[in-house]
Amino acid sequence: MFIKVILLNILIGLFIFSYLPGQNKVKLSNSEYNYLRNTNIEILAGYQAPPNSYYNEEGKHVGICVDYLELVTEQINITFSKKKLQDWDTTISYAKNHKDFIITGIAKTPQREKYLLFTEPFIRMPNVILTNNNSDIYTLKDLHGKRVSTVKNYAVTEFLRKKHKDLIIQEVITDYDGIKRLINGEIDAMVINQLSASYIISEKGLTNLRICEEIGYTNKLCIAVSNKNPQLFQILSKVTNSISDKETQKIYSKWANLTRVKFSSKLRYIILIIIVIIIVSYIGTWYWLSSMKRLVFIKTQEIRDSESKYRELVENSYDAIFVQYKGKFLMVNNKFAELFGYTKEQFINGEIKIEDITAPDSMQIINDRLEKIERKEPLSLQYNINGITSDHKKLNLTISVSYIPHEDGSATQGIIHNMTEQFNKEKELRIAKERAEESDCLKSAFLANMSHEIRTPMNGILGFSEILKSSDISESERIQFIDIIQESGNRMLNTINDIIDISKIHAGQVSLSMSEINLKEEMNSLYNFFKPLAEKKNIKLVLDYNCSDPLIITDLTKFISILSNLIKNAINYSNQGEIEIHLCKDENQLLAWVKDTGIGIPEDRLSNIFERFTQVNGNNSRLVQGSGLGLAIVHSYVHMLAGKIEVESKLGVGSKFVFTIPWRTF
Ligand code: ADP
Repeated sequence: MFIKVILLNILIGLFIFSYLPGQNKVKLSNSEYNYLRNTNIEILAGYQAPPNSYYNEEGKHVGICVDYLELVTEQINITFSKKKLQDWDTTISYAKNHKDFIITGIAKTPQREKYLLFTEPFIRMPNVILTNNNSDIYTLKDLHGKRVSTVKNYAVTEFLRKKHKDLIIQEVITDYDGIKRLINGEIDAMVINQLSASYIISEKGLTNLRICEEIGYTNKLCIAVSNKNPQLFQILSKVTNSISDKETQKIYSKWANLTRVKFSSKLRYIILIIIVIIIVSYIGTWYWLSSMKRLVFIKTQEIRDSESKYRELVENSYDAIFVQYKGKFLMVNNKFAELFGYTKEQFINGEIKIEDITAPDSMQIINDRLEKIERKEPLSLQYNINGITSDHKKLNLTISVSYIPHEDGSATQGIIHNMTEQFNKEKELRIAKERAEESDCLKSAFLANMSHEIRTPMNGILGFSEILKSSDISESERIQFIDIIQESGNRMLNTINDIIDISKIHAGQVSLSMSEINLKEEMNSLYNFFKPLAEKKNIKLVLDYNCSDPLIITDLTKFISILSNLIKNAINYSNQGEIEIHLCKDENQLLAWVKDTGIGIPEDRLSNIFERFTQVNGNNSRLVQGSGLGLAIVHSYVHMLAGKIEVESKLGVGSKFVFTIPWRTF
């Protein structure tokens, strides 16, 4: 137990001993201490060779060599002053000409040995090739004939000049100067110790440089003093020999790790920022894209909805709608196609053009408008044209238009109102109004005429019956007066019969009474009846009867009435010449005419000669007696017998009334 306690104490003692500072301090002789205290020994500093020896941003002298020198000074418990020199070249020059100085971190070379003494190396640093990322230099061989920089008076420069004479060496003042020239493309590569290269790259955040292979020369850094000062060399050799490799390694690791940590933390920071930017931009883009997508979807839907509503509205419109550009139809709706009697496709594929649906008399209007559109002249927004349907029917159209930009011009967007029905109704109303006015005039004329037609024979009857009362009239006069009374009575009877007949016709109370008649017999009797009347006026009455079979089936009363009215008129409205009564018959039809050489009918009265109350001479004069109902009765009876009647007449030449009736229809 006792031995165990002693052993444990020894172990603890050893452990503590190994970690106690100054425990391995070097023992110097008094003369050595005196020498150190009485001599102004300078540490050469000032040159910038990171991470070996340099002044940091805070102006502090730091680096591997500085740490190592501290270790040395700690051993001897002495502090040296620092001599700040501009750069390495100046440092070397200074060393050549002075005696009491220390350079920490310098490699032994044959040249330097001429004026310096070197301790054992405390650190080894391989030299490497440093190039730009895009360079084609990878190995030492690739440096052949290339511009290579090294720091002036560096050991490696001496090595390269001696061993690799094929290189174009451009000396620089510091490593960092060289790197700047490399980045600017002023040199092709740099030869630099690996630790310095890594440290500067990481410190400055340089990403476009590449460390290539080692060049086969390693900087073995020592402490050097002037060869004129062997005492100092002896002291320092003693001290440096007492510093363990572990302690040196610790310093090296500290700076190497610092480089790595710096490098990686900076890189990590950059990567983190990049990742954050990427994520933020991705999320932003995704959000923006989704909102845009949604917006586009909503807008597309809105456009589709409104387009389909517009289409529906256009397609189901009661009016015909079209869009037309340079005479071609871009769109027509159902009503448009239906209005003109074509299919929509026929318009869209150009099979049916605007001239196919426009009446020739309206084509000029269309062409004028198309030309004005071309010339960009102002146009009325509504115009009327006549259209033509596929089955050649005429349409009265009103077109309301607007103009919309299309390609390099204006397209016409039009709504067509079909006014045909309204137009026809207006026309009918106008005709009806004219007829009503005419009928009104005719009625007035008829009343005046009737009063004349009734009063005249009535006066005759009353006047001559009064005369008959008198006893002093001769027998011949008495007979003549009785004839006049009879004639006046007949005339009144005829007028009343006409009024009754036309009233019955108008009231639809007239019916047909068909029977077989002998045409020849009836015509002869008519001829015989009217012949004296014609002869009285010196007119020749001719019967041109041309039927092989005299039998026909018809309504005798109406047939006789038709011919009687026509013959009576012919006699009444003729003063000389001849009246021809013509009759012939084919298989179905009976053709008859009454032709005279009388006063004739003016052309403008021919169209309504068969209407009631029409009298050519109207109120102007009553040259000829008559009610103005005869031809209306004739016209009605011919139509009741399913026939047709026409008139040809020339004023002063004569008239010809021609009618046909089917003779065995009934
Ligand atoms: P009216 O009793 O006046 O003869 P109608 O209806 O028979 O009536 O004839 C209408 C009018 O037509 C006549 O008033 C007359 O002006 C004209 N007219 C008819 N027949 C003839 C004819 N043969 N020649 C000339 N004018 C005629």
